[in-house]
Amino acid sequence: MSAALFDLSGRTALITGSTRGIGKALARGLGAAGARVIISARDREQTSAVAASLRDEGILAHDCPFDVTDTEQVVRAVATCEAGFGPIDILVNNAGIQRRGPLLDLDPADWRAVMSTNLDAVFAVSREVARAMIPRGRGKIISIASLMSEVARPGTAPYAAAKGGVKMLTRAMCVEWAVHGLQVNAIGPGYFATELTAALVADPAFDAWIRGRTPAGRWGRVEDLVGAAVFLASGASDFVNGQTLYVDGGVLAGL
Ligand code: NDP
Repeated sequence: MSAALFDLSGRTALITGSTRGIGKALARGLGAAGARVIISARDREQTSAVAASLRDEGILAHDCPFDVTDTEQVVRAVATCEAGFGPIDILVNNAGIQRRGPLLDLDPADWRAVMSTNLDAVFAVSREVARAMIPRGRGKIISIASLMSEVARPGTAPYAAAKGGVKMLTRAMCVEWAVHGLQVNAIGPGYFATELTAALVADPAFDAWIRGRTPAGRWGRVEDLVGAAVFLASGASDFVNGQTLYVDGGVLAGL
């Protein structure tokens, strides 16, 4: 009974930014829970290679490359996925970038790039998928926020602003779409060692600071996020809506 609550067999999940890092781990995790997964990012060779490697692991995997910041590509990709792989039951908005630097010197192009990928795209992709989900009366939308939806660090202004926006957009989508049977939630990861954070992991002072600042005493491993994603993608969360679930080893619990 309890395992059935988390079973994703027969469900199709589109995961943006799933050629590496957190997105790839979530695709593998949702696939292991039974879902058919659609791997997506901008690089066609990488999406195809990652889908093939997941198929080798016994997961039902396809790929659909597109740029989440290009609305025309978004519209085309959602239609292609629905026609080719079946109705999208689960959307994971995971694609994201980071541009670090002091706010006083920040190039407006960097501000725009981060907002466009990390916030505008969550709106564009979610709306396009919701337009297909709503007539079916069900769907799960999960966006990857961040502990920076709550707190900032020097040099992270556009990222923190965008991720704070993802938290509120999650609530806004919930209040409009829950009545149509959709659950719209977010996951807020703490610090995870991926390509996005490679410079921080390589910095001994930052590495030591993170270990000291995190009650769990370590960086997150991408697999640590799978349980939250399977929960929010499955029937187990059918009355959970508008929430951001922080998976951060306890960082936000303390000063
Ligand atoms: P990575 O840099 O390892 O992976 C990012 C993925 O997004 C890649 O697959 C990349 O592929 C894709 N991507 C980037 N831009 C676009 C675009 N315009 N269109 C489509 N795909 C795109 O990042 P992480 O795995 O570390 O991060 C994933 C998410 O988790 C992000 O939203 C990030 O903000 C969030 N997060 C990460 C944390 C961490 O500590 N690592 C902490 C909190 C949140 P390609 O470039 O080929 O398109």
